[in-house]
Amino acid sequence: MIITLKKEASQQAKELLRQQLEKQGVRVNAIVGENHDVFGLVGDTAKLDERKIKANDCVEEVTRIAAPYKLANRLVHPEDTVVMVGGIPVGGQHPIVVIGGPCSVEGEEQVAEIAGKVKIAGGVMLRGGAYKPRTSPYAFQGMQTEGILAMVKAREKTGLPIVSELMSVDKLDEFDRYVDLIQIGARNMQNYDLLKALGKTKKPILLKRGLANTMEEWIMSAEYILASGNPNVILCERGIRTFEKYTRNTLDLSAVPVIKEKTHLPIIIDPSHATGDWSLVESMSLAAIAAGADGLIIEVHPHPERAWSDGAQSLKPGKFAQLIEKGRAIAEVLGRGCASCGF
Ligand code: PEP
Ligand code: MN
Repeated sequence: MIITLKKEASQQAKELLRQQLEKQGVRVNAIVGENHDVFGLVGDTAKLDERKIKANDCVEEVTRIAAPYKLANRLVHPEDTVVMVGGIPVGGQHPIVVIGGPCSVEGEEQVAEIAGKVKIAGGVMLRGGAYKPRTSPYAFQGMQTEGILAMVKAREKTGLPIVSELMSVDKLDEFDRYVDLIQIGARNMQNYDLLKALGKTKKPILLKRGLANTMEEWIMSAEYILASGNPNVILCERGIRTFEKYTRNTLDLSAVPVIKEKTHLPIIIDPSHATGDWSLVESMSLAAIAAGADGLIIEVHPHPERAWSDGAQSLKPGKFAQLIEKGRAIAEVLGRGCASCGF
């Protein structure tokens, strides 16, 4: 529910109304606007009586929000949220961020080498999976803590903040301690216990869209994290399952404008998992920038043919650098370029 307050409403009247509402068990987000102040109400608003609220002298209008998400809703929070990751702003009108790195951490040297190349190319963060959600229980499951520590060493060498996937609550402390941006993978998008636990940290969360989830379900998962007390959520579109077989998934680029319209959260695109094919990564990255995405997360490997996972969709560092060079031209047109950070 949104309560628009009258321009001339006194501070005292607004405060009184806020207290009355909070007594009824809802949270009040006060938004100071240029023309009107607004109260965004979160919680069980069904029990509130609109007419009674309207009877307050300081109230101009009461609007019920039809969407089931409140904290993520742009109506409740009109300004873009900018999430800081290891000192780098993501979202709003800030430069587009490019994250690069291997699908899986394969060792300290491997990840350090890739980190150096990602940085030279203009990437601003390093990705690397240490806990891997694999379809087969017999496939490589990740280097786990050793992999996370290899990422930490690569960060020490390059200064790049690190991004890695958390699969279970029992590793949250490890991630809170070492990782700059905690990735929640497509397969865990609706693991509600995990989402609720993310409120225990204020570390930014990269929430990937589920394999076959609607945008509303995805936003509701973000809502879980926000409602648990962590406001730092970045969404990531990574392709969804469709009947199409020529690509690993179908990249739903319409998610960018839709998410921006419905929510205030930053959104980045993962063209690697979306296509499953390195030769499609550049074109989809350029399209994502043009569509207004706040960033890209791309798999990079110097020897894709030898990669322990997802080699077919990994770019060699040279191609990754070329992609950033081309993307910069589009980012500049959109006013989101930044030569010193790749874009
Ligand atoms: C990944 O980023 O390595 C990954 C497993 O991605 P997704 O969860 O999108 O499949
Ligand atoms: Mn991968």
